[in-house]
Amino acid sequence: ENLTEESMRMIDRRAKALGPAYRLFYSNPVEVKSARGVLLYDSRGDEYLDAYNNVVSVGHSHPRVVEAITRQLGTLCTHTRYLQNGIVEYAESLLPTFTDNIKHVMFTCTGSEANDLAMRIAQYHTGKSGIIVTSEAYHGNSHLTAGFSPSLGENSPLGTWVRRVPAPDSYRRDPADLGLWLAGEVARQIEDLERRGQGVAAFIADSLFSSDGIYSEPTNLLGPVAEVVRKAGGLFVADEVQSGFARSGTHFWGYARHGIRPDIITMGKPMGNGYPVAGVAVAPDVIESFGNDQRYFNTFGGNSVAMAAAQATFEVIRDECLQQNSERVGFIIKQGLTDLMDKFDFIGDVRGSGLYIGVELVEERAQKTPSSSRALQVVNALRERRVLISATGFHSNTLKIRPPLVFAEAHADRLLTEIEAVFRTCFGGSK
Ligand code: PMP
Repeated sequence: ENLTEESMRMIDRRAKALGPAYRLFYSNPVEVKSARGVLLYDSRGDEYLDAYNNVVSVGHSHPRVVEAITRQLGTLCTHTRYLQNGIVEYAESLLPTFTDNIKHVMFTCTGSEANDLAMRIAQYHTGKSGIIVTSEAYHGNSHLTAGFSPSLGENSPLGTWVRRVPAPDSYRRDPADLGLWLAGEVARQIEDLERRGQGVAAFIADSLFSSDGIYSEPTNLLGPVAEVVRKAGGLFVADEVQSGFARSGTHFWGYARHGIRPDIITMGKPMGNGYPVAGVAVAPDVIESFGNDQRYFNTFGGNSVAMAAAQATFEVIRDECLQQNSERVGFIIKQGLTDLMDKFDFIGDVRGSGLYIGVELVEERAQKTPSSSRALQVVNALRERRVLISATGFHSNTLKIRPPLVFAEAHADRLLTEIEAVFRTCFGGSK
């Protein structure tokens, strides 16, 4: 499919105006004009199936969220230093969804800011500086969070207080002892941090390990890790930016799949269905010294409109039973993809929970050799058929399927049909 002249000119103008640090998706970029539910429309009015956008989790342009934002914007939008009911009401709605050690929630605009604040709190509370992450983690774009986001690549320097542990690769390691193995890796990094007088302030992880390659199973991994970290005086921080707000289907929060009680929980992306709103939830003892000795102010964080967007999004997830939909439709997609393994030898593994699914592509199943080129080809070929997904992991060889939570069974069928068609046209028939 050829881009319109206007889109081609826009690519040029964009590069000139925005500079060299931005990237576009797909070798043939998509120019989007509008969206509704799980469908995006380009400048020609052609329709795309959005199987990637987890931000608009209750669907693009959801009328209830649009109405809440518009109404609030026409009434009042201001910061958190005046008394307003919206922020209190939203905090009170959210707090009962966490484990009961979590009693407060603070608001930011982005996930990066949330993780930045979480680490300031963790370092201040513990008096230690070390932060441990998984080897391809992404936690944000601020100076501090980029310093513990190794997925930004080897040219983006990590902090001297940062240590990495390998991702829990359930495809290549025995899942039975993965939890103890990961806890052992964390313990080794803690020893190193202690030897250097830094100590461990926090272990932070996304429980779906999205940028590491999506490892949703086993769910007994994080318990042993939390134990090792706490024994050394550090905190367990659950980064729920990807896995939170019903994404995993079985639970509202991803960490809950592992049955753990985090000390700090960070969240963002889907929280306002596209309106920038993010947050940090904490246990009282963890925030006490920071709260007493320091102050927190964020001009836009927790503003009136952000809270209206978040409240409406939260209510839609509940009223439209989107967690159940995520579990049900996610299962159908996962099952359909697993069935394709009989036909295509290059599908190494199908993983995921709810509407967060990874399909690891390999050269041949017997060797498990990651195939970046196959994944790239599939992602671009699907785009040509107007189905949008992406790829993740160190080798970018795991297809990343992560649609809005309103994805229906008919959308799942279309997605599976298109994936099978692309597998066949790109790599030939059955094995
Ligand atoms: N944590 C995780 C796990 C993320 O995936 C992201 C964004 N991709 C962030 C933090 C940062 O969030 P934001 O882009 O809103 O700053």
